[in-house]
Amino acid sequence: TSLFSEGFLSKLHKPGENPQIKPELKEKHLAWTKGRIFTRFPPEPNGYLHIGHAKAITIDFGYAKYHNGCCYLRFDDTNPTAEEGVYFDSILEMVRWLGFEPWKITYTSDNFQKLFDFAVELTKRGKAFVCHCDQETMAAAKGSGKGNPQPCPHRDRPVEENVREFQAMKDGKYPEKGACLRMKIDLSSGNPYMWDPVCYRVKDAPHHRTGTTWKIYPAYDFAHPLCDSLENITHSLCTLEFVDARASYEWLCDALEVYKPRQYETARLQLQGTFLSKRKIRTLVEKGYVNGWDDPRLFTLIALRRRGIPPAAMLRFVEELGVSLSNSEIKLARFEHAIRQTLELSAARLFLVLEPVKLTITNVAEDYSVELEKPIHPKVPEMGKVKCTLTKSVFIEKDDFRVDPPADFNRLAPGKSVILIGSPYPITCTDFKTDAAGKVTEIICALEDGTGPSGDKKFKGKDASAIHWVSAQPGRHVEVDEVRYFEPLFKSDDPSKVDNFETDINPDSLKVFKGALLEPAFYPVAKKLINDAKAEAVKRTAEAASFAQDGVDTSKPAEVAQGVS
Ligand code: ATP
Ligand code: MG
Ligand code: MG
Repeated sequence: TSLFSEGFLSKLHKPGENPQIKPELKEKHLAWTKGRIFTRFPPEPNGYLHIGHAKAITIDFGYAKYHNGCCYLRFDDTNPTAEEGVYFDSILEMVRWLGFEPWKITYTSDNFQKLFDFAVELTKRGKAFVCHCDQETMAAAKGSGKGNPQPCPHRDRPVEENVREFQAMKDGKYPEKGACLRMKIDLSSGNPYMWDPVCYRVKDAPHHRTGTTWKIYPAYDFAHPLCDSLENITHSLCTLEFVDARASYEWLCDALEVYKPRQYETARLQLQGTFLSKRKIRTLVEKGYVNGWDDPRLFTLIALRRRGIPPAAMLRFVEELGVSLSNSEIKLARFEHAIRQTLELSAARLFLVLEPVKLTITNVAEDYSVELEKPIHPKVPEMGKVKCTLTKSVFIEKDDFRVDPPADFNRLAPGKSVILIGSPYPITCTDFKTDAAGKVTEIICALEDGTGPSGDKKFKGKDASAIHWVSAQPGRHVEVDEVRYFEPLFKSDDPSKVDNFETDINPDSLKVFKGALLEPAFYPVAKKLINDAKAEAVKRTAEAASFAQDGVDTSKPAEVAQGVS
């Protein structure tokens, strides 16, 4: 509940109190919503979701849930050439991964006929016209930066001609870019969104759901407000780039005299160290800078899931950001902090020696073998213990030993002592061996159990730092074919500010280690944790689903928007 600051809540209307509803539409609207909050998450199914979408999902679904309301998952599938079935599936999977269940799943394309009828009505009301300007002319008129655009030559054609021409567009009489339908709003406005935005474009491409039925497809500025209206959305939550678009959103609902939802804008997530744009992420994937959409260096949700980030950490992160009304770049450290806080008491501590170097204890017998037990988590005894065996030879991490250590190095070095975690006694380095190139091949140590060569009975364990290890005895460790270690994908902190982000790619962001060693308990413990997490996810989805079912009686479709006949 802390997700929604008082400041944010005070800027939104309460359930059943949409200040914009016209009295004649209010009764119908309330009869349908029963005064409940209705929101929607409206992704374009043209790519995999990223961490920015997790913010939107959490706000859209979370706000509805907070008020015991309902949130739609609406696939905004108006661009047939960019959409693919796998994106639809993945988007739903990610919503569920985050612990939400759509109250209903809808598709903008389900409303293509209704949207077309709305467009005809708008044209008949003299508020839309068919335009044949090419894109350059339109862009030049709009983007000159020298004040308001001149009306285009098609703006004032007669209503009947517009109706006829729009029908001709639908019938496939025009090639792509040969014609479009535009709202006739206000060229004198200071807001460029009012400069006759496009409602319909010709596109001769088969659609994922509607096949070849349509040769024209609605634009976002037209379809989005009307789908919100048709679905009786009470709070149309979106990001700050849409502040100026709100004027045309409202103009359109009013022009058609349909139920007018209220749009609210909140900050778009910008995360340091990466960019959140499907188009740019696609470039990284297609040019092979990463190995697929779920490459752990990306901030797509499938990548974050693969990295092992629990959904609870995602929700915590969004919650800690709060709902802000101004954009700012968020430090990556804040995301990492949320992950650490979430995993702190649940992640098992198990040993992996990434770059093993052999360590031999001289003052014990050849067949020395001591069964040790160490807790899976030092602070969470309920997680249990794992057994490991200390033997005469073990492997430690290459970086845990230095021949010439700097003053502040507190791990192993000639003459220095460390604890092998789990062992009651420290070891002291007495010697080391190198190969011809000077690389350390073996570290020689003495076990300080009070009888060792230094004979120092006063040695205090707490003076030594503790390092991880695995037994060198065959069968007491598991060799890993390949360990992939990921560093940031970009060299700079803000690749979105670099002209050509491809020049900012860190060539060493993936390090591959061969021959790393795991302690034998790793696989059984990991398997149990994975199974527990799966069971937890199933439980959460079931809970979310039962909440979603507990919504409003929806036996009747949302027809309130049908203010026109
Ligand atoms: P992209 O530019 O990556 O394609 P988009 O905004 O076009 O993103 P949509 O699929 O249209 O992606 O987005 C669905 C919803 O997610 C929208 O309501 C959008 O505002 C929201 N969203 C997308 N990116 C972010 C972000 N970085 N922070 C917050 N919300 C976001
Ligand atoms: Mg988009
Ligand atoms: Mg976009």
